[in-house]
Amino acid sequence: MSEPQDLLQKLRGIQERRAAMGTAPVPGATVIERVLGPNEVVIGGRPTLMFGSNNYLGLTHHPRVLAAARDALAVYGAGTTGSRAANGTFAIHEELERAFAEWFGKRHALIFSTGYQANLSLIGGLCGPGDVILIDSDSHASIYDATRQTAAQVIGFRHNSPDSLRRKLERLPPGRNRLVVVEGLYSIRGDVAPLKEIVAVCREHGAYLLVDEAHSLGTFGPRGLGCAEAQGVLDEVDFIVGTFSKSLAGLGGVCVSNHGELTSLHFLARAYVFTASGSPSNIASVREAIAVIRDQPELREELWANVRRLRCGLAELGFTLEPTESPIVAIATGEEALTIRLWQALLLEGVYVNLIVPPGCPRDACVLRASCSAAHTPGQIARAIDIFARVAAAFGLGTTSARIDATSTVV
Ligand code: PMP
Repeated sequence: MSEPQDLLQKLRGIQERRAAMGTAPVPGATVIERVLGPNEVVIGGRPTLMFGSNNYLGLTHHPRVLAAARDALAVYGAGTTGSRAANGTFAIHEELERAFAEWFGKRHALIFSTGYQANLSLIGGLCGPGDVILIDSDSHASIYDATRQTAAQVIGFRHNSPDSLRRKLERLPPGRNRLVVVEGLYSIRGDVAPLKEIVAVCREHGAYLLVDEAHSLGTFGPRGLGCAEAQGVLDEVDFIVGTFSKSLAGLGGVCVSNHGELTSLHFLARAYVFTASGSPSNIASVREAIAVIRDQPELREELWANVRRLRCGLAELGFTLEPTESPIVAIATGEEALTIRLWQALLLEGVYVNLIVPPGCPRDACVLRASCSAAHTPGQIARAIDIFARVAAAFGLGTTSARIDATSTVV
């Protein structure tokens, strides 16, 4: 009988790649040793500016948010120890659902233990054999994974292209249920979906529309409700999904909708039924985060002022930025090895950004992603820009006349 040998082989391959990096920072294995504030941490024993967090409104350290968590801990204990469908629905879970519904002006809201599970639950609960799910080709992994657990037909359309979506819908035979899934703000490049046009195409072709506003919740729109609100189509979107893990500084997911049937989803959605509910301190802090966002619209103004500061500084250094202005400032760096070396150098100099390399993007279209926060001070942004300048100079890149070239091999 032959020995099974291959199960661990792919893990060994990853170990070898890590070992080859020696003592340099390893992508995907960053440890934050201490948190000094909303945007300053200790990594590798060094104080580091955090520009790779989704803490868009800086609420991780807001005194009201922290106090709400502490109070709930004292009242309800550390955890719910069970699923929403069993012993894990506390009054505060339902209060949070009401808070979301009221904030969005929608009739219903359902919360989930993570944003990932919100997508699994929604898409998995709604779609089955014979149905068709149409997804943007740049969709988040949670959307891809959600479609895989259904027996529905899955069709991709070109990123942010209502025309491509229309062509795919036109080819479908009549009588099949269709769900279109897009994001408001895309997390890799920080570009925004043309929701008005997408809504119009969905209407033309009788498709339901789900918009995942993970990164746009709290950051876009006059009330911070996301890109659908910013583009004036909130009423036309069937299902808005959001996560708590970004602007809301917690952990969990939500879906809001005017469709009354939403509330029955918990009988169908495995990712809702078979997992524990959000811990009380987390649920209470998220509820308070919503209240803070509603009370302090100036947080959004501060965020956008910081976005402009950072973009301006990086553009002056000659970096190529995604044209859309958003809290996700995507710096096009091109080739993978160069991008990893830049990321390591930035980290060693004291600024943490996100590294986007395959499978997160095509091989030659890698990105360093800097995320802005309302809590960044002008001084922190200036320090980060100085570090970018030093690293760019060390790599022979990034003067106003020398843009980072996708094919560059300069070390
Ligand atoms: N959807 C999108 C578009 C996301 O970017 C993310 C997280 N990055 C999620 C869903 C999952 O959210 P969570 O991390 O809260 O599970």
